[in-house]
Amino acid sequence: MLGRGPILAAARSPRVRGLVTTAPVTARVVRRFVAGDDDTAALAVAAGLADRGLTVSLDLLGEHTTDRARAGAATRAYVALLDRLGAAGLTGSVEASVKLSALGAAIDPAMALEHARLVCAAARTAGTTVTFDAEDHTTTDVTLGAVRDLRRDFPTVGAVVQAHLRRSEGDCRDLAGPGSRVRLCKGAYAEPAAVAFTDRRAVSASYARCLGILMAGAGRPLVATHDPALIDLALRLADRFRPATAGAAPAAGGYEFQLLYGVRPLEQDRLAAAGHAVRVYVPYGAEWYPYLMRRLAERPANVTFFLRALRGQRRRDHGFFAPPEAIVPGSPGGGT
Ligand SMILES: Cc1cc2nc3c(=O)[nH]c(=O)nc-3n(C[C@H](O)[C@H](O)[C@H](O)COP(=O)(O)OP(=O)(O)OC[C@H]3O[C@@H](n4cnc5c(N)ncnc54)[C@H](O)[C@@H]3O)c2cc1C
Repeated sequence: MLGRGPILAAARSPRVRGLVTTAPVTARVVRRFVAGDDDTAALAVAAGLADRGLTVSLDLLGEHTTDRARAGAATRAYVALLDRLGAAGLTGSVEASVKLSALGAAIDPAMALEHARLVCAAARTAGTTVTFDAEDHTTTDVTLGAVRDLRRDFPTVGAVVQAHLRRSEGDCRDLAGPGSRVRLCKGAYAEPAAVAFTDRRAVSASYARCLGILMAGAGRPLVATHDPALIDLALRLADRFRPATAGAAPAAGGYEFQLLYGVRPLEQDRLAAAGHAVRVYVPYGAEWYPYLMRRLAERPANVTFFLRALRGQRRRDHGFFAPPEAIVPGSPGGGT
């Protein structure tokens, strides 16, 4: 079976991109992971999740912008989204997730930081906040530097740490101070062994170490994983380090679980029903291709099913095309 690296490498080929984006089966697959093409669709999904007791982080898809006009347009689109969230009364439960590269970091980091300030100011006016996604390792210093800078004026701005990067324990120590919100994920990008753990067990072990640092720290760990073993570990660490907030409504500090839209929805509801704060990361927008390919690559069985569907073979009643509830510990690709 193909591994994550080769899948992500193949995804960069224009031929593969053409094949995937024009295949009739793709629309159904995209709908599972992406809320829709515009902010009206995103708001409708966010409102539905809020009705289920879940909070939301909305991500306007688009990344690695190499054009100033597009970076400006992405900034204005986020500001407009935040205005609409405020008007819809959703900012109590919805924040924004932003990729600095969508705001132009690859062209001009200073311009991207100014754009980020505009987005953070719009979030504050609307009564919510922003988390800056982690992208590939070449961007980590610029993104974490921008978050540090922004937090002086917007203290609730969140950072993201990718456990697969070898540097991340140190980043967690730097970020574990009072008031800091840190999303800990495994990392979705194919990285060289020089900077990242490439073995799944080593990534999970790094995640566990990083989580220990964040839970023992003074900030709010945002536990972004679907991995049952790591969710269990987070619950145990929360019992030990945060007894006042474990299993109860989140207090100042506290912690929250974060899962992706379309992945393990029953687990999202189970955690919320047990009283834990749960946030669902909801992407929307037309530029879904790289996001979808990262989701496919995370679970190579998905690719097999996708290829079969592309070849017009009979739909299989499990795996990628099964209802999302079928994704449970022990299913193909399950566990750490
Ligand atoms: C809220 C949130 C925000 C994130 N933000 C970032 C970010 O800013 N930067 C970044 O690099 N990465 C980000 N990620 C992605 C993350 O780095 C991982 O690539 C992704 O979460 C898969 O890792 P896992 O911890 O769920 O563990 P895995 O071991 O990959 O998955 C555990 C189990 O969850 C299920 N599962 C996981 N992913 C899928 C999928 N795509 N399709 C079907 N089943 C699946 C399977 O049952 C699997 O066995 C984010 C993830 C989440 C949940």
